[in-house]
Amino acid sequence: MNYRSTRDTNLSLTAAETIARGLSREGGLFVPESIPQITPDFLESLVDLSFAERSAAVMKLYLSDFTEEELAEYTKAAYANFDTESAAPLHRLDDKTSFMELWHGPTCAFKDIALQILPYLLTASLRKTKEEKKVCILVATSGDTGKAALEGFKDVDGTAILVFYPRDGVSDVQKLQMQSQQGGNVSVCGVEGNFDDAQTGVKQIFSDPEFAAKLAERGWFLSSANSINWGRLLPQIVYYISAYCDLLNEGKIRMGEEISFCVPTGNFGDILAGYYARQMGLPVKRLICASNSNDVLTEFFHTGTYNRNRPFFTTVSPSMDILISSNLERLLFDASGKDPDYIKSLMGALKQDGKYSVSPEIREKLDGLFWAGCCDEDGTKAQIGKVWEDHHYLMDTHTAVAHRVLGQYREQENTSEQVVVVSTASPYKFCGAVLEGLGHPGNADGLTEIADLEALTGVSAPKPLAALRNAEVRFTQSVEKEQMEAVVSDFLS
Ligand SMILES: *Cc1c(COP(=O)(O)O)cnc(C)c1O
Repeated sequence: MNYRSTRDTNLSLTAAETIARGLSREGGLFVPESIPQITPDFLESLVDLSFAERSAAVMKLYLSDFTEEELAEYTKAAYANFDTESAAPLHRLDDKTSFMELWHGPTCAFKDIALQILPYLLTASLRKTKEEKKVCILVATSGDTGKAALEGFKDVDGTAILVFYPRDGVSDVQKLQMQSQQGGNVSVCGVEGNFDDAQTGVKQIFSDPEFAAKLAERGWFLSSANSINWGRLLPQIVYYISAYCDLLNEGKIRMGEEISFCVPTGNFGDILAGYYARQMGLPVKRLICASNSNDVLTEFFHTGTYNRNRPFFTTVSPSMDILISSNLERLLFDASGKDPDYIKSLMGALKQDGKYSVSPEIREKLDGLFWAGCCDEDGTKAQIGKVWEDHHYLMDTHTAVAHRVLGQYREQENTSEQVVVVSTASPYKFCGAVLEGLGHPGNADGLTEIADLEALTGVSAPKPLAALRNAEVRFTQSVEKEQMEAVVSDFLS
């Protein structure tokens, strides 16, 4: 199985080269040359396996240059760090709805599913491609990715990791999680400004050839742990297939019966993994794309026009506060019949005018597969309160957006299939807004809010968040955007 770029189909890389490289040189994203197909027999063979074993079996279909032993070892190690038996357990809400809780890993958000295993895939890929330099992972984060990448790469041989976060753009709990990070090869630094400033700064560092040469002399090269790396997307395909197996196990569906997934969406990585699972042959009826007030994707699926020229809202579901959903490019590539020139023209228009429109044929194709809706701040909080009242189930803000949109879907489409809502974070990561949803003031500091939420609901905070109470703060540095390159240079000297 080889990989090509969405903007240059003459390229053909092995899986190891694809993961080692991350982003293609001409700016395109790597995609598999063909999508492996699964059968009912294959699904049946996964039903009695653990999540780690299911993961190894599914990833093997895409990673032909990795051995079964390697994948068994990596998945077992990666998913042993979760506090549930499965890394993606289903919680049943009612007869037709379950939540797939992807936040039982070390940082309490779904990014752990991919970032616990990416270091294994990346270091193995570097060995396979005979890269001799050490890799430094540079991350600009709006909160969850940074911490998950730090936990994944801490003390991994041959790697270092440096995370930049917007000083005033992350929640108290998220900041404390990062500032207290353990490990001998890690560093964390605040940037004056918002997420875009941090992101732009990191992009500038990546595109500076002189700086790259200077680091190469010292034996380092830079890479990213962003969701544009295939090594981050692939592990996410697994949980869609795993959820299907769990529903079979529960007796809620028969083999072949279609189910839907409802996904709180930002950069379009999570839901794209669901699309790949469906293209592999998983019986999926609809992928429901849920957005917050930054509803650029809702508009896209409704009109066929992607337009980033709109106000940016800072919301209580910050991991979805995104106006450019990078991974959409992979979907469009597939939907266009794998036409790199067409993709280049769309992405060129996005860069130049901030918008593009897709052809009626593509729109029609996507219409049958996706359903899109959005939810504002009041709706998000109201949903948290309602589900707590009706079911005594506590949701985070991102999951609440998805569950709200699921209500819209059911009302408008009048369908009755099983739906799995992808639950992406522990409610304890976003305590302030969750408290407000339950009708309580949430404007204390992060640690007080954790205690308040525990007292109010009787639901315990996950261990890694409860432990923040006694955490030692190690990283308090904060710099202007212009100084970021110097921070990297110091870190790697
Ligand atoms: C990253 C994130 C999302 C959005 O996922 P994408 O893959 O960017 O669409 C949703 N919820 C939470 C909690 C996240 O951390």
